[in-house]
Amino acid sequence: MKPPPFDYHAPRSVAEALDVLAAEGERAKVLAGGQSLIPLLNMRLAAPGHLVDINRLTGLAGVEVEPDGVRIGALARHAEVERSEPAAAAQPLLRQALGLVAHPVVRNRGTVVGSLVHADPAAELPAVLTLLGGSVRLARRGGPGTPAAGSSTAQDVAAGGSFVVRDVAAGEFFTGPLESAAGPGELAVSAFFPALPPRSGTAFREVARRHGDYALAGVAALVVLDDDLRITSAAVACVSAGPVPLLVDVTGECGHRPPASAGWAGAARAVQDRAEPEDDIHATAGYRRHLIGVLAERALRDAAREALNG
Ligand code: FAD
Repeated sequence: MKPPPFDYHAPRSVAEALDVLAAEGERAKVLAGGQSLIPLLNMRLAAPGHLVDINRLTGLAGVEVEPDGVRIGALARHAEVERSEPAAAAQPLLRQALGLVAHPVVRNRGTVVGSLVHADPAAELPAVLTLLGGSVRLARRGGPGTPAAGSSTAQDVAAGGSFVVRDVAAGEFFTGPLESAAGPGELAVSAFFPALPPRSGTAFREVARRHGDYALAGVAALVVLDDDLRITSAAVACVSAGPVPLLVDVTGECGHRPPASAGWAGAARAVQDRAEPEDDIHATAGYRRHLIGVLAERALRDAAREALNG
């Protein structure tokens, strides 16, 4: 199928992109990797009058390891982040999850930030951002503004005037299925994934009908140990368990115990109880709930093992 007609914009600076987004408001959509937007256009499930292609904004590319985490620019492709050794060292859950996102062809083009803004409850990266307590940086026209960190943005400020940025925490960013806090006129310029605390481990487990398909259910887990190697905190974030990533703190269920005697099964039941999966053509809600319990226990055990070995 063919997309409905639209005006195509190819800005050469963030400022120029923000001008178009400000002028067109809800009529405009940002085009990043196009791996979600183009199918939606072709199926006529979206019909923006204006597409703002950000692929020439090379200053928004890049994966930066900061002292307290990993900042991923809006043009960094899944594959680039997956391959980045510094990013994997600073935040191993990124690579663990990205290997499960679609196929290499899609990962070569799709962007991490695009996946977050797209806010599909079946996607891996929103769950990762939620579990880690990360954030998304949004820019819009307006002033006086706080320039976002990064040389590209600074150059844009010099070249095209000021704009305002805000960092939205993951807990407030995902507002519903395919809905995020990125509003009309806003461009997501980067996302920040905090580093892990000492003596911690992460894991991502999911079940998909075929490798690379969207998961029927998935669970990201984070376990932190204290100096005596007892659990001090444990949490999971679930995929396809409700309209937005489901974050469940299971520290209480695990108990302040060494991983070998932790209450993993009780933790998994607590996650299952909180899940609100839906029926669709791929799986029933009941089957998804069952998977979420099984995956939660496995992911928590794997994360604890990684924390012990770390
Ligand atoms: P686009 O398609 O360009 O945009 C998606 C949406 O986000 C649009 O609404 C767009 O306007 C908005 N947007 C993008 N970037 C910005 C920005 N910087 N600022 C503001 N708005 C922005 N994803 C998974 O998570 N797991 C999977 O298993 C999976 N399987 C897939 C299988 C196939 C066959 C395909 C085609 C895609 C699959 N995807 C999967 C989706 C893929 O990960 C996409 O790359 C991702 O969802 C969106 O990234 P994108 O850069 O392609 O965004």
